[in-house]
Amino acid sequence: MILVLNCGSTSIKYKLFSPKDQGEGFSLKARGYIDRLGSPRARFYHVDGEGEIDRDLQVKDHTDGLKTISPLIIQSAGGVEGVTGVSHRVVHGGDIKEGAVVIDNSVLEKIKDYTPLAPLHNPANLEGIEAASKYFPGAVQVAVFDTAFHQTMPPAAYIYALPFYLYKKHGIRRYGFHGISHGYVSQRARELLKPQSTPFRVITCHLGAGCSMAAVKDGRCLDTSMGFTPLEGLVMATRPGDIDPSIIYYLKEQLGMSLEEIYRLLNESSGLLGISGTSKDIRDLQKEAEEGRSNSALALEIFSYRVKKYIGAYGAVLGGMDALVFTAGIGENSPGVRRSICQDLEFWGIHLEEKRNSCMLGGKEGLISREDSPVQILVIPTDEEKAMVLESWKLLK
Ligand code: ADP
Repeated sequence: MILVLNCGSTSIKYKLFSPKDQGEGFSLKARGYIDRLGSPRARFYHVDGEGEIDRDLQVKDHTDGLKTISPLIIQSAGGVEGVTGVSHRVVHGGDIKEGAVVIDNSVLEKIKDYTPLAPLHNPANLEGIEAASKYFPGAVQVAVFDTAFHQTMPPAAYIYALPFYLYKKHGIRRYGFHGISHGYVSQRARELLKPQSTPFRVITCHLGAGCSMAAVKDGRCLDTSMGFTPLEGLVMATRPGDIDPSIIYYLKEQLGMSLEEIYRLLNESSGLLGISGTSKDIRDLQKEAEEGRSNSALALEIFSYRVKKYIGAYGAVLGGMDALVFTAGIGENSPGVRRSICQDLEFWGIHLEEKRNSCMLGGKEGLISREDSPVQILVIPTDEEKAMVLESWKLLK
């Protein structure tokens, strides 16, 4: 069986998959999470064939968390030797191209090297790898990187117009993130639409708390909106996406803010929350906008406007488009946001079917475009764990 492990900065999520006896596919044996790791209000949820556990828990770090989880996993796997592989989601893998790699010392070094670019995530991933090696000593440890899918971008898309040595010597370039999700939904779009000819050009919109888009041609990523770090691109829950870099200089010189304060402003108090001043959640903003709160309406408008701009850019990058895919919390659940993004794009062959759009939520998958729409518009719930287990299985088999 394969344990898929996602160690975030303050959480652990996991799923245990068993390969089906007949043919391809996996069945889910157990799943769970620990939330608010390190805080006194940490919560533990686990479900398997035996039942459910849902309780408060004192867990100080990822090692401690895995110590709690591992006996339950071992029980579901019928013994520790039942877990043959552990698949770790790693946020920053730099220039590693492979979908999944066996973790050896050189891979560990790479993950460490890229820690300054993902200071909240890579250390958590490393701790998860170390703890999993301890609790599942016989299992092959595999890394699946959020950056890998974007490694097919051409230099024109990933090199910033900065002095070239910053790229050559210091690795300052666009890496892109949410790659596991973009890879999964673009592949799923291909399976659902079964294109008869090439090129098959898809624009994927991963709209959650973090948001990013990708331009994908015949399964290869040509460009993506997140950059050197996950700050660039679309408007997000608390991040601004694209801004003029001089604003940072201005905040420091004219408003006397420290770099630390600016970093926090850009990561924690901008985006939907920053504009509205009330909430980072689309549902709250929609309610407030209906009640006449103008800044909540403005936050929603700016959010959709930015996605629209990137659709235009990526249509140009791809030389046209065959499918537009929405995924993640907002993309899967908000007909209103999808409607305002697609509005007035009919000239480009994007024709939304409102009846389909309004009932496509809560994890449903399907088409939301008109029968005659040249661009097929789809909602595809992302399933990063499934994508990870498939990639890891290809490697371990
Ligand atoms: P992440 O995994 O990046 O933390 P998610 O993909 O779960 O984020 O997306 C979270 C966001 O999705 C919430 O902040 C909220 O704006 C939006 N969202 C979740 N459910 C709904 C819903 N039913 N309607 C509209 N928006 C929703």
